[in-house]
Amino acid sequence: MQRPSEGLIYNYIRSAADKLRLRDWDIAYMVHEQPEAHKDPDQETYASVVPTYGTSADIRLSDSFFRLGATDQRRILIHELCHLHAHMFHHVAEQVEKALEESPEGKEMLRHILTEAEEHAVDQFARILAPSFPLPPWTGKNR
Ligand SMILES: [Zn+2]
Repeated sequence: MQRPSEGLIYNYIRSAADKLRLRDWDIAYMVHEQPEAHKDPDQETYASVVPTYGTSADIRLSDSFFRLGATDQRRILIHELCHLHAHMFHHVAEQVEKALEESPEGKEMLRHILTEAEEHAVDQFARILAPSFPLPPWTGKNR
């Protein structure tokens, strides 16, 4: 489908963020040909969120994101926003990684374990929360 207007995407993200108690976060988004991080269970890269500083973050969406169905787009956007509630874990991970400076294997294992645990928790929250949000208006679906 055609990529929706920037205003429509921004308003949807802002409104969902406000409902998720992320009112104090300054959230930008950008559409990337190839975003850096997030892989969904199908191993295709659709979206990622990067806390930039303080309570600012960028949500990065890939072009392929807009080819997903309405409920998947909604779940993924809610998922990315839920990550912001877990951002303190990254500070903890950085501290532990510093402590593991002499052990590259330990750092790698820690990063893997923490990422898996966070993804699982965040996705559970997103699956619980997403159905109580409207579908993204650019998908043309109401329910
Ligand atoms: Zn995630």
